[in-house]
Amino acid sequence: MPSLGRRPPPWQGAQRVGAAPLLTETAPFALRAAMSEDPNDWEPSTRLIRGGLARSAHGETSEALFLTQSFVYDSPESAEARFKGEEPGFVYARYGSPTVKMFEDRLALLEGAQACRVAASGMAAVHLSLTGLLKAGDHVVAGRALFGSCRWILQTWAPRFGVEVTLVDGPDTEAWRAAVRPNTRVFFIETPANPLLEICDIAAISQIARAANAKVIVDNVFATPLYQSPLKLGADVVVYSATKHIDGQGRVLGGAILADTALIDEAYRDLIRHTGPALSPFNAWILLKGLETLELRVHRQTATASALADRIAAHPKVLACRYPGRPDHPQYEIVQRQMSGGSTLIAFDLGSQAAAFRFLNALEIVDISNNLGDAKSMATHPCTTTHRALAEAQQLEIGLTPGWVRLSVGLEGPADLARDLDRALDAA
Ligand SMILES: *Cc1c(COP(=O)(O)O)cnc(C)c1O
Repeated sequence: MPSLGRRPPPWQGAQRVGAAPLLTETAPFALRAAMSEDPNDWEPSTRLIRGGLARSAHGETSEALFLTQSFVYDSPESAEARFKGEEPGFVYARYGSPTVKMFEDRLALLEGAQACRVAASGMAAVHLSLTGLLKAGDHVVAGRALFGSCRWILQTWAPRFGVEVTLVDGPDTEAWRAAVRPNTRVFFIETPANPLLEICDIAAISQIARAANAKVIVDNVFATPLYQSPLKLGADVVVYSATKHIDGQGRVLGGAILADTALIDEAYRDLIRHTGPALSPFNAWILLKGLETLELRVHRQTATASALADRIAAHPKVLACRYPGRPDHPQYEIVQRQMSGGSTLIAFDLGSQAAAFRFLNALEIVDISNNLGDAKSMATHPCTTTHRALAEAQQLEIGLTPGWVRLSVGLEGPADLARDLDRALDAA
């Protein structure tokens, strides 16, 4: 008998690999029945290729792109059951949809997290991660060196809703302890931090938070899921801008929150449903394909960055070079304990804004851009771009003086990049 058109396709033959399904937000994909493999035992490379893969009945090789706003039901009884959460399946794309769910499951498997929810940008994810845990009268402690928009949310936006914020010197673990108040609910850590790659001790700060009954959120963008696992170090929530290394090819914005299922359900599930930060399925699909090559790209970018950092540090025009993989990094001891790789980013001080601008103007291959994690190498002058909203005194508090340049190392040939940097450093 041909289908009457109301029936959903025969999903029963489909395969689903990866994280545990969330009952109300999972398509009716069945797990591969005879699978003895546990995806949680896979290496990162395998997780990045196979995690979350949910094939439709067509058996497509590549992840399918489901552009649909809503979903249809076989019967009113089925619709009722799905709304009650008694029958698995999607109900509306603001709550979840198949391609987006594949991206969430793949990220969760990679991170070793029970659950993941994605958002339309990294900042949407950061904003959610905070508001889901806070109410008027609560207090947040955060490191002072932060991505500009994160600092704006904490310093300018949160106080409007009666949330108090204390910014501390992130690498100074005792400063976090001293900042705790009876109403402290959240610690927000960015490490390595913008723009000078300073490092906070996630395990030690998480211990202080636990004793204070506060939750720890880690913005893990610079480290990527490959080099640092905050949940294993005691953090409660990890946030990403998927815009950076996860896309890594300059195309779309995206963000993610990862945590235990209980915390995601309690703090974020309804907030996401009703405030609508949903990631477009198209962008989720781009980011899923980005994950397939994440490890290759990040390892290659790190290898090049590591060699370039030594070269930059040795150049006579450079007063200081900050790279988490170098023993002269001020927090190198913490790097060795909590990170399994260096970074794709380097920061260095050329002494003055004029020298930094001469350097940037002499670059021929590396772009002048404030983005990072991209296949294309990019350099930026934080004082006049990403951190220009900070008063000079605030810039000084995080060690940012006008000579600093931040370099994001891409996938170009290492020898070509070395030549471009040598030329620009000579001109500085
Ligand atoms: C880029 C970035 C963000 C914000 O991400 P968007 O995708 O640009 O919204 C947050 N934190 C850090 C550390 C970042 O680098």
